[in-house]
Amino acid sequence: MTKGKRKTPKSEANRLSMVLRHVLGEDRFPVDVEALAREVSRNNDDPIGKVVGRDLPGFEGMLRPNRKRPEWHIVYNDDPRYRGRVRFTIAHELGHYQLHRPALTVQDYASGQLQRECDFHCKPLRSNAWQEADRLREEEADTFASFLLMPLDDYRAQVDGQEMTVDLLNHITDRYGVSLIAACRKWIDFTDKRAAMVVARDGFALWGRASKAALRSGIFIRSGMPMPGDALAAIGADERGFVLDRPIARPTGVWNFSRGSESVRELALVSEFLDMSLTILQFDDAVDVRQIEEDDPWDTYDQFQSGSRS
Ligand SMILES: [Zn+2]
Repeated sequence: MTKGKRKTPKSEANRLSMVLRHVLGEDRFPVDVEALAREVSRNNDDPIGKVVGRDLPGFEGMLRPNRKRPEWHIVYNDDPRYRGRVRFTIAHELGHYQLHRPALTVQDYASGQLQRECDFHCKPLRSNAWQEADRLREEEADTFASFLLMPLDDYRAQVDGQEMTVDLLNHITDRYGVSLIAACRKWIDFTDKRAAMVVARDGFALWGRASKAALRSGIFIRSGMPMPGDALAAIGADERGFVLDRPIARPTGVWNFSRGSESVRELALVSEFLDMSLTILQFDDAVDVRQIEEDDPWDTYDQFQSGSRS
């Protein structure tokens, strides 16, 4: 699919989103991505013939060709722990189909069986396990999925500058049918507020992400960073679900970053099932923002690396 003008993940997701809007109007969420995959591929020589759940230990999903005829199958992991991510995974595989697949024709099957290897095997995000080309491809498929399932204009309208709360997060995950982490990550990506998210296990950050405004003010979440002993996720480690319903104010000294410590409003979710916690940090906007020299780390996985304990 590299002939002609290259599709970008965002432009392709936005194009499909416009189609959905045109056909379904405002009632298009959560996106029925399985139906969409069949519909958009229907008239291709190599359509998506199957979308199925399987036991896929170690993988989130796959896009793989039928060995007998020009056709693709999307396979997603049907382990219950992945359930909240199924829609995102199917959208990710649809992203590979739209952006990265080699177009298969009957000539590829001249011998009666497909000879080439062109499977896409997708693991949970672990950037250091990827070659650079794979990393870029995986990142593109994620971006496609994110923009397809959570169009920016619609998400912005839902949040409308409000503080992120449990109710608002629940509204977002219900509306788009995505996991809390996918919903949070998207919000962190576009919010112009100073905010950050940290996913942790056993007292250490597996990975984290800060909004652009937060990064500019020296808030950077490093993989492997120890979680503060007073972090809500640590205090509420025996809880299930959100430790508290609303973000609570934490004084200076609890969370420390490169520019020092500052007070923050903290929201934390503990997932016993997934054996990890998610913390959302919201900082005061009225802070003298010190510009830091960063070579736009935003579009890379610099902040998003596998922790040594994952
Ligand atoms: Zn992938």
